Amino acid sequence: MNGSDSVVVALDVGGTGMKCALVRPDGTVHHEERHPTRAERGPEAVTETILGVAGALAGKARADGLTPVATGIAVPGVVDEHNGVAVWSANVGFRDVPLRDLAVQRLGMPAALGHDVRVGALAEARLGAGRGRRHVLFVAIGTGIAGGLVIDGAGYPGAHGAAGELGHVVVRPGGTPCGCGLRGCLEAEASAKAVGRRYAELSGEPTATAFDVATRAARGEELARRVWQDAVEALADGLITAQALYDVGIVVLGGGLAEAGDELLGPVRAAVAQRVTFHRSPEIVRAELGDTAGCLGSALLALDSLKETP
Ligand SMILES: [Zn+2]
Repeated sequence: MNGSDSVVVALDVGGTGMKCALVRPDGTVHHEERHPTRAERGPEAVTETILGVAGALAGKARADGLTPVATGIAVPGVVDEHNGVAVWSANVGFRDVPLRDLAVQRLGMPAALGHDVRVGALAEARLGAGRGRRHVLFVAIGTGIAGGLVIDGAGYPGAHGAAGELGHVVVRPGGTPCGCGLRGCLEAEASAKAVGRRYAELSGEPTATAFDVATRAARGEELARRVWQDAVEALADGLITAQALYDVGIVVLGGGLAEAGDELLGPVRAAVAQRVTFHRSPEIVRAELGDTAGCLGSALLALDSLKETP
């Protein structure tokens, strides 16, 4: 499988789009393409699209003189990686879909199924900003917030495929209602969506995004600065909780909001430093792989599964 002509068919399926690639065993990308998910068609049609796109990519690999050796698929929601089942996903509509076995049947080669953020963590830990580090926490901040813990290059899925839900750690008891039913979850206080919504409510500008808030805060606008700082403080509360539990060497911040760069990183580092008591401070850095992390990570997961079952 380490032959120079081997590639993995890798897909990262999101609520709106799929990032797909042919990835070599060393993590370099041979070919990339994107497709709309069109989740409104329902889970059966989405599954059929996934299998069709994966099959076409395997065909493309062969046409290029390469040998597809495995399929890696990443999906959002609750994912049972051990059994290869997409258990639940709000934005794609999966309910107990045995995606791994379906891919094996359709493509005739081994397959692995992973959680989008946890495989993104795997990619950042092994190929991106966490390279060479043993204990890495990746936190994706976008519409929601989720984390992935990687220890010695292996992701930690948890007993039920639900580990890393940092977004639903309550940081503001009684605070903003969260989609999960609780109040004051980190995701409800500090996601890009939460920041945009809070600013829109207070400013009366319905179209303001988290990115606008970051930019205006950096320029010194008082309201934006206050909303941004509230989110940063909530994020720091979440991160210091994670540090108390995991004691990682490095925290890699990814997802849309991390694109704000130093406007996010500087204040977050300062707010975490203020909360450090017995903890050992993690280094806090920005992700390096952008939105390709999930796709690369699903390829890594597939390659790992080949090693486990020779
Ligand atoms: Zn929640």
